[in-house]
Amino acid sequence: MVEDDPDDRLLVTHALKKEFPRLETTAIGEQDEFEAALSNWNFDVVITDFAIGWTDGLQVLKQVKALDADCPVIMFSGTSGEETAVAAMKAGVDDFVLKSPDHITHLVVAVNSALERWDQRRAARAAERALRDSELRFRTLSLQAPVGIFETDADGLCVFTNTKWTELSGISAEDALGEGWAKAIHPEDRPRVFDGWQKAVEQGEVFAGEYRFRTPEGIVSWLSGQAAPLRSASGTLTGYIGTITDITERRGAEELLRQTEQRYRLLVEGGPGIVYTAPFGSGFEDNYISPQVEMLGYTPKEFLADPKRVWSDLLHPDDHERVNAAGVLADKTGERFDEEYRVVNADGKIVWVHDFAEVLHDEDGNPALWQGIMLDVTQAKEAEAQVREAEEKYRSLVERIPAVTYIEVNDPDSPFGYRDTYVSPQVREILGLTAEEWMSDPNRFRDMIHPDDAGWVLELADRATETGDSYKIEYRMVIGPGETKWVREEAYLLSDEEENPIHWQGIITDITEERRVGEVKLAREAAEHANRAKSEFLSRMSHELRTPLNAVLGFAQLLGLEELPSDQRESVDQILKAGRHLLNLIDEVLDISRIEAGSMSLSLEPVSVGEVVSECVDLIRPLAAEADIELSSEDSGERSVMADRQRFKQVLINLLSNGVKYNRDKGKVEVVCRQTKGGRIEIAVQDTGPGIPAALIDAIFAPFERLGAEATGIEGTGLGLSLSKTLIEAMGGTLEVESTVDVGSNFLVELPPAKQRTESGETFEPREPRIPPGTDEARTVLYIEDNLSNLTLVERILERRPEVKLISTMQGRLGIELARQHHPDLILLDVHLPDLQGDEILRQLMGVPELRETPVVMLSADASPGHREALMTQGAHDYLTKPLDIRRFLEVLDSI
Ligand code: ADP
Repeated sequence: MVEDDPDDRLLVTHALKKEFPRLETTAIGEQDEFEAALSNWNFDVVITDFAIGWTDGLQVLKQVKALDADCPVIMFSGTSGEETAVAAMKAGVDDFVLKSPDHITHLVVAVNSALERWDQRRAARAAERALRDSELRFRTLSLQAPVGIFETDADGLCVFTNTKWTELSGISAEDALGEGWAKAIHPEDRPRVFDGWQKAVEQGEVFAGEYRFRTPEGIVSWLSGQAAPLRSASGTLTGYIGTITDITERRGAEELLRQTEQRYRLLVEGGPGIVYTAPFGSGFEDNYISPQVEMLGYTPKEFLADPKRVWSDLLHPDDHERVNAAGVLADKTGERFDEEYRVVNADGKIVWVHDFAEVLHDEDGNPALWQGIMLDVTQAKEAEAQVREAEEKYRSLVERIPAVTYIEVNDPDSPFGYRDTYVSPQVREILGLTAEEWMSDPNRFRDMIHPDDAGWVLELADRATETGDSYKIEYRMVIGPGETKWVREEAYLLSDEEENPIHWQGIITDITEERRVGEVKLAREAAEHANRAKSEFLSRMSHELRTPLNAVLGFAQLLGLEELPSDQRESVDQILKAGRHLLNLIDEVLDISRIEAGSMSLSLEPVSVGEVVSECVDLIRPLAAEADIELSSEDSGERSVMADRQRFKQVLINLLSNGVKYNRDKGKVEVVCRQTKGGRIEIAVQDTGPGIPAALIDAIFAPFERLGAEATGIEGTGLGLSLSKTLIEAMGGTLEVESTVDVGSNFLVELPPAKQRTESGETFEPREPRIPPGTDEARTVLYIEDNLSNLTLVERILERRPEVKLISTMQGRLGIELARQHHPDLILLDVHLPDLQGDEILRQLMGVPELRETPVVMLSADASPGHREALMTQGAHDYLTKPLDIRRFLEVLDSI
């Protein structure tokens, strides 16, 4: 209240207090108080006097309204008159009350109505402001909203779209108006959306759906759209308001999830194993199992109906306890479950599975879910079993061979760069070490190598460890005090197909015995070699001796043909006798050495024993007669043996002549022939001689052993029995002797019987020196011979055949030339010539057409039948051995 009159101030204040107890009244009398009130405005109604000393009511009104237009101002004036009231009303006061005692009531009414009006206006203002604020909020919200917002009228025509909508659709708010919004929908989704939208509008219902927007630029987004009908207070449909939310990301995530899920499902359900999940702590109460479980004869549904029971049914009884225990433990601890076991599938077939499961943890890190897979490892298991079986087999094989087998791997950490991983138990027997000793300490083996070998052996082995080169060596090992063994070690590096080293394999064999046998064999070979050398030497020497002997005997024979005084004849006889003895000796040495050298060739054929015996007896008869020994033979019947006829005769003659030589006066020699129990033929030569002491019996067949006979003047070489035994044995027979001192000896020849009887024919002719008469026909003889004395001998012989002209040469080639020129009637050809060998000359001679008919007689010191045969088949007319038997030679000469 602005009032300069103190009484009025009091009166009004009083009246107001009384009427409006809650109303607070401020009475202002002075100007400064009014100024203060203006500057600190806090009033709901103003009552002002019209005439105030320092101002007037109109001024106050102006100032108050300027400050608070809604504040009611009541003019309370003592100035009556209409002009004042009109002026005041014009100026905008809300009421005008005249001052008078009655007018206080008017003032109260005026204040009351002013207050009411004020309240109304206030309320309206607040409502208006609230609406404005709300609108603003909505607009801001709708503009800023992260979802698209749109509004349509009752016909579905767009009246509003927000920023987000524009953003999502790429269509400006203006263009969206009316039916413009429809362009925003993805063409593919349009039919669906329009249809749905139309239905919703027709029914006045909520529209909802997921569809795509495509901007004019072609950007596609997935949306979730909703629109709700707007209705007036009376319930009529006024339009729709709706939102669209961008769900592209969600759809993407969903799609991704779907794809991922599909991919994993594919993996799980197309994989080789049965995949399962089970809540942790449920005792493997599976809540998922992949379709592969069908390989056990159950569908996933059947299985999951009662997983624990089905599982228990499937598990092989022998594995039940172990696997269950492992499962219980894992389900308690959450540690990885990893077991191999057998299940018996619905067909009763045993399937090996490898089952492993891991726990998945929840967000708080607590074990939540078992995730596991079971793989069918039956094949692997079977293969494993096969490998084990094969390993077993090879191991038992390895552990049975009489050698130590070991396996070692390269190991740079061990002192020698390798480490043994296996050694066969034979190490015990062969090297005296247990397998443990061998394996635990490589030095045990290394220290056993003989000190003389250790150096090179270890160097070689260590180098091989580095290079990977195989080796095979022989060395000595000291097994115990004074016991040394020879071993052979073979070691090689085993590599896989890519040539990566796997391990070393070695075999150590005890070759002590082998070495010993080897040494013996070597010694024997050396002896045999020496023996062969000796035989060869003897053979050569005898051969060489024959040549001069040829001359000696030849010339002595020639001399013997002359009329000589008796003392000279005796000398010639001596020469001949000694010469023949020497010749015998040489022949026998030659035979023995040939047999020993293995170059004696025998031609075994069925030979009639009776015939051979009688031939030999006849041959020895003159000798026996001379010594006054009675010689007899028992008829041996029709028996034949398999023998070389010539050699068989040689043996019999030797035995018979021994019987005659070593006998007593008027003694007897008898040949008896019989069949043994074994079916063989035995020819016994029995004499009545001095016998042989038992102690000497064994020596009798040794070469050059004459048992003292050399002192008796009885001729002999000491080779006859030795040669005979060797010959008979070479024919598959035996030669033995039974003897009783002072009673006689019995030499027994045993030979295998012949299957059929031999053709008889050969008759034995005693060779008595006799010169057959010549033919007196003029003939030419070509003699090719390099040995001068032989040449001279033949010249001398031919002096007895004056009608024979002799041409001679010492060279083969020249001989062939001479043959061409002279067309001789006979060619005598020595086998050994300085320029060409006899067989070669013979071949060339045979090749000359005009000489083809010319007989060529070979002269050779080589008496072996093989040699003779070879040359005869080559075309030789005859083959004469040196020393030349003159009678035989002349026979040949005369026969042409
Ligand atoms: P040789 O008769 O040339 O001396 P042998 O080899 O034929 O050589 O005989 C060896 C030795 O055996 C003879 O020197 C002789 O001492 C003895 N001997 C051989 N035959 C008889 C026999 N029938 N009775 C007794 N001793 C014999």
